[in-house]
Amino acid sequence: MRLVVLGGGESGVGTAILGKEKGYEVFVSDFGKIKDKYKQILTDNKIAFEEEQHTESEILNATVVMKSPGIPEKVAIVKKLVEKGIPVISEIEFAAAFTKAITIGITGSNGKTTTTMLTYHLLKSAGLNVGLGGNIGKSFAWQVVEDSFDSYVLELSSFQLDGIVNYKPHIAIITNISPDHLDRYDYKYENYIDSKFRITMNQTEEDYLIYDADDEAITNWLQNNKTRAKLIPFSLTKMFEEGAFIKDNTMKVSINQEDFKMETEAIALEGKHNMKNAMAATSVAKLMQIRKATIRESLSNFQGVEHRLESVLKIQNVQYINDSKATNVNATFFALDSMNTPTVWIVGGVDKGNDYNELMSLVREKVKAIVCLGVDNKKIIDAFGDVVDDMIEVNNMNDAVKMAQRFTEKGDTVLLSPACASFDLFENYEDRGNQFKQAVQNL
Ligand code: ADP
Repeated sequence: MRLVVLGGGESGVGTAILGKEKGYEVFVSDFGKIKDKYKQILTDNKIAFEEEQHTESEILNATVVMKSPGIPEKVAIVKKLVEKGIPVISEIEFAAAFTKAITIGITGSNGKTTTTMLTYHLLKSAGLNVGLGGNIGKSFAWQVVEDSFDSYVLELSSFQLDGIVNYKPHIAIITNISPDHLDRYDYKYENYIDSKFRITMNQTEEDYLIYDADDEAITNWLQNNKTRAKLIPFSLTKMFEEGAFIKDNTMKVSINQEDFKMETEAIALEGKHNMKNAMAATSVAKLMQIRKATIRESLSNFQGVEHRLESVLKIQNVQYINDSKATNVNATFFALDSMNTPTVWIVGGVDKGNDYNELMSLVREKVKAIVCLGVDNKKIIDAFGDVVDDMIEVNNMNDAVKMAQRFTEKGDTVLLSPACASFDLFENYEDRGNQFKQAVQNL
C-alpha cells in the first residue's frame, strides 16, 4: 500500500505520519519548497520526500493519493492520477477512516472559524473530551495518530470536501454560502454550492445538518436535492418548532422538544452574523446534551477570534476595530451592519470580483469617511466617491491609520474591514491585522 502525499504543509505532513503509522509506504512530494520544520519532522519519521518537483515515477505508482487543499485539481500531476484511476482524496477522508470519534464538520463561505471555535469552546467548557482540527491548528490526521478524543470539531473548506468519498460528520453545519474561490470551480457558482453540500452527502438518518435558513443558495439547494440528515434550521427572520431563531432580542434554540433561551445582549459576540454563528454552535451543544447553565456561561464569555471584528483600543473615545479577515464583500457587509457609531472605514486590497453595490445603503447610513488601502482602488472610488464626504488613498498601514484618525471625532469608530484579499501589500490577513494593531498602538 503506497500513500503519496501531494503538498508538504500541515495537512500533508500530518497525513504522512498517520499513513506511516498505519503501515503504508509513504512518499511526500511538493512542487514548492517545504518548510524546514516539516522537513525535519519527515526526516525524523523516516518518511521519503521531494521538493520543488513532482517525480512521476514516484507518484503514479500510488495506491492512494492525499492532495493538500491548496493544490488545484487542474494541475498536470493530479490530472494524470485521475486518468490512471488512482483515488485522490483529502486529509479528512484519509484520517476519518482511522478514528471512531464522532466529528462535527463546519463549512460555509464566512463564519467557519468563528463557529468552529465557539462550538469547541462550548463542548470543551462542558467537560467533553473534544479535539479541534481541519483548517485550524494541528492537522486532524496528525491528531488521529494518538486518537485520544471522543469527538472532534472540524473546520472544513470546500477543498477538503471535494476530496471526500465516504467521510460523514455526525453533525454538519453550513454557516452560509456566497460566491468565493470561483476560480477553482470553473467560475460556476453552482459547482461551489454543490461542493459545500458534499458535507451532507454521506450523512444518514442518525445525523444532523444545521443550516442558515435565511440563505437562498442553501434553501434552494435543499428544495431541489436530497439529504438523509435531520435538518436543523436557524434564522434571524423566521421561527421554527425545531431549530433556532431570534425573537424580541432573545435567542431560542429548540431541539428534541427542549428549549434553550438567552437574551442576545448577554451573548459576548456582537453583530447579526455572530448571532447566526451562536445559533449554529448552540444547536450543536443542545444535540450533545450540554447543560443550559454551561451553554449560557460559555456564550457569555466567548470573546471571538483574532482579526474578526476584534476590538483593538479606544483612543480619545474612538474605537478601533480589526476585521482584517473580511476578505470578501459579504463579511464586510456584516461588519458595517454591526457598527453603531459614525465609522471611518479602511477598505481595499486585491479585488476578487467584488460587487460593491451590496454595501451601498450601509455605507450611506454608517460611513463618514473612507481610507482606500490597496494597489488598485479604482473600483472603490467609483463606487463610493459620491456617497461619502471624505475619501483618501494610501499605500501602507501606518498612513491608513493616521489618516483615519484625522477624520474622527469623539464617539466614532475606525473599522479595518477590507472586503479584499491582502497579498498586494501584506503577507496574509494576519500580517495585515497585526500591522493595523501595531499602527493603532503607535497612535
Ligand atoms: P471563515 O473561517 O469562514 O473565513 P471567519 O470566522 O474567519 O470565517 O470570519 C471571516 C469574516 O467573516 C470575518 O470578517 C467575520 O467577521 C465575518 N463573519 C463571521 N461570521 C459570519 C457570518 N455568519 N456571515 C457573514 N460574515 C461572517
